Amino acid sequence: MMKSTEIRNKFLKFFEEKGHKIVPSDSLVPKNDPSVLFTSAGMNQFKEQFMGNLCGFKRAVSVQKCLRTADLENVGKSLRHHSFFEMLGNFSFGDYFKPEAIKWAWEFITGVLNLPENRLWITLHKDDFKAYEIWVKEIGINPRRIIKLGDNDNFWPANAPKQGPNGPCGPCSEIFYDWGEEFGCKRPDCSPACSCGRFTEIWNLVFTQYERQTDGTLLPLPNKNIDTGMGLERIASVMQNVRSNYQTDLFVPILSAIGENLARDNISSEQGWMQTKARAVADHMRAAVFAIADGVVPCNEKQGYVIRKLIRRSVVYLKQIGVKKPFCYKLVYSIAQIMQDHYPETQQKHEFISGVIKNEEDLFWKIIKERSPQAEVEFKTLLAGLENKKNSDKAQITDLITKAAFIQYDTYGVPLEISKAIVQRISNSHIEISDLEFEKQMESQRSRSRGNTMISNEIFVKTAGTILQGIVSEFRGYEHLECSSNVLAILKDDTLVNTACKGEKVEIVIAQTPFYAESGGQDGDRGEFVNDFFLAEIVDTKKVGQAILHSALIKKGILKSSDKVTAKVDFQKRANTARNHTATHLLQYALRKKLGKHIQQSGSYVCAEKLRFDFTHLSSLGQDTLKDIELIVNQCVWQNLPVETKIMDINQAKAAGALAFFQEKYGENVRMVCIGDCSKELCGGTHIHNTGEIGFFKITTESSIAQGVRRIEGVTAMKALDVVQHNKFLLNSLNSILKTSSDKVVDAAQKLVLEVKAQENELQKLKQSLLLQETENLINNACSVEGINLVIAEIKGLQMDGLRRICDLVKNKLEPVICVLGACFQNKGFLVLGISSSLCDQGLDAVKMIKKFTALTGGGGGGKKELAQAGTKDIPAFKNVIVNANEIIQDFLKQVELS
Ligand SMILES: [Zn+2]
Ligand SMILES: [Zn+2]
Repeated sequence: MMKSTEIRNKFLKFFEEKGHKIVPSDSLVPKNDPSVLFTSAGMNQFKEQFMGNLCGFKRAVSVQKCLRTADLENVGKSLRHHSFFEMLGNFSFGDYFKPEAIKWAWEFITGVLNLPENRLWITLHKDDFKAYEIWVKEIGINPRRIIKLGDNDNFWPANAPKQGPNGPCGPCSEIFYDWGEEFGCKRPDCSPACSCGRFTEIWNLVFTQYERQTDGTLLPLPNKNIDTGMGLERIASVMQNVRSNYQTDLFVPILSAIGENLARDNISSEQGWMQTKARAVADHMRAAVFAIADGVVPCNEKQGYVIRKLIRRSVVYLKQIGVKKPFCYKLVYSIAQIMQDHYPETQQKHEFISGVIKNEEDLFWKIIKERSPQAEVEFKTLLAGLENKKNSDKAQITDLITKAAFIQYDTYGVPLEISKAIVQRISNSHIEISDLEFEKQMESQRSRSRGNTMISNEIFVKTAGTILQGIVSEFRGYEHLECSSNVLAILKDDTLVNTACKGEKVEIVIAQTPFYAESGGQDGDRGEFVNDFFLAEIVDTKKVGQAILHSALIKKGILKSSDKVTAKVDFQKRANTARNHTATHLLQYALRKKLGKHIQQSGSYVCAEKLRFDFTHLSSLGQDTLKDIELIVNQCVWQNLPVETKIMDINQAKAAGALAFFQEKYGENVRMVCIGDCSKELCGGTHIHNTGEIGFFKITTESSIAQGVRRIEGVTAMKALDVVQHNKFLLNSLNSILKTSSDKVVDAAQKLVLEVKAQENELQKLKQSLLLQETENLINNACSVEGINLVIAEIKGLQMDGLRRICDLVKNKLEPVICVLGACFQNKGFLVLGISSSLCDQGLDAVKMIKKFTALTGGGGGGKKELAQAGTKDIPAFKNVIVNANEIIQDFLKQVELS
């Protein structure tokens, strides 16, 4: 049996021997590509190369981590659906084409994996005569086992010829594995085109040979590309001779861990659940582990939302068989065990990852336990209201209850499955939540939240990047703050222009520039461009492809695309930014020294004013820890350590122990920034020369920005002095307000708070005794109608809350009673109507009765049989109903017959 690790290694080695560069898997969160949330195919990280922007190699091979969530419902139910999966792929960028791609694929499958030829079938595009010829003549496949199909099956992207998107596309050819007739439908024409399960697609070879134009024509590409993909889980199931991907060595240990942990909790794992839901849990946890390892944390947007959803779905599945507490986090270790050979980060970070997952599970269990009872009350109220409306039909009820379930989900996080169970129970299975309607609500919610993001279906988007293709700016800013250079391009609204005049906002590209373009979390440089005829203020600097774009506001004269300009960086801003950038490196050093090596940068931002550093850590830091960290950074500052940069090979840098930021993509040669002996980081930013230039470092805030991710903000030099001086000013102000001195101010404030609390208690007691007194008065003044006590009063100075409390007190002391209480407060009338439960049992209903009142006052009202309330803005009408309350109630009593 060939293990999955062996398959990965053999694949990489095979193509390396065929001249391919082994490129490591890209992060699951693609950098610089807002068009997708997650990396979903091997070719994603090679988009630039596909567009013809080569960087040193024309052949690549990779094992890519991928995540897709389009078809979650099928995960676990089918043999081969996954959210997380690995793609083996070989790529050619304008280098080899069909003959080699086909030949090597065949050689790998039959020669390295040793699969028998008679088990392999081929599909290809019906018009791809070239591929057909290669398969038949050069490889020698029996034409009986070659199936010709149309655009839907054998073109990539499938809709490209008819609908687009525009851009590179082409036919493909797929290799299928035949499990044998006994596994199929046994029809004579059964083939890979049949969906009976006899055939498994194992490898897709895409021949990218066209560029689709807007009018739908397919122009041949001058540089043809190869893009192939073989799902590791599928080929593993073939190599290990098991029908389901879940029976391979990639999943079996996770499923065993689920079974063992259930047994430990004395929960019996029935087979049906193990073969569907447990598989979904195993799948979802793989996705969560890898996404969290790549810096994602559960939250309510983008990638974090997807991971939250996957974890919560798993919790719901586990709850169905009786799990009552966090469970999923226990599976992290077994996933890391399986994956550590190829992905050591899963092992290195497994404690952190399980911490993040456990936090999310805790949070979700809290929602389930605390929110479910409240949800139940709300569903009951809604159903009771619907029963009163006799004529509402069933579809309408389903509609309303489903909308309510969506609100429970969207606002409070109560999952659909939980709402369904509640509604089923309280309605005795008469009413059901509609999956379809719920999904519709979800979809409209999604499109609402997508409104402002840039999720696009286009695979290749034309931008400034495509216009500036081939234009290269040289960055001179490490050594120079000023240089003169030729203009290479002027862009206005992503279009090339020849001139720019006073008042216009344009983007300028020059050949050599001292301006640092925003990257690695460091703000772009500001400054100015000048020559004898023109002056522009540079308000930002960005990099697009190889070009550095200066966002310019023309202040004076005219700039022509043939001009030469002098570019001057605002050195004060640059110096302050450099102080903050170097301080950020020292901060990371201090955090790792104080808290441990699990601290990892998950984001940062430095500009002239401040610095911000986000890092992975589970708990808040506390004042003492923050003081220590501040001290460590300042000690480095006072030692005036040298800051040096070295260019070196990436492997050399890694061997030297340099820290790298996971989301960043590094080339062969990297820049390492060293501060004394304490910090080594891969970084392209601009730094100071000696730490002493920082002067003084001060942390301003520490907070949580997501589960497992903390944020520290800080300032240096002049800004740090500002902060200290401002704090001193605040302290002095407090001293004068509290009439005390700095060393006593905390005591004084504490004393004040205690005093206020004591007074509040006192006030509360007084209020309570007033309420009791008021209640006594009301009871003493009650009248009686047909054996029922009637209490009617307007009480000054109260609002709804107070009225309800008095009403309850009256009901406790007087039986049977109808109690109508009103109060005016800030031009609003409040009305509370309470009825003894014994009267309700006989058929009285406070909700119906209060409607007699609201019919006269306007405004809305509602509640339960025993207690209803209403509000109005019509004060005269309100006063009137209080005066006439006795009659209104008597009228009402005449209309109902008490049982
Ligand atoms: Zn079939
Ligand atoms: Zn840096």
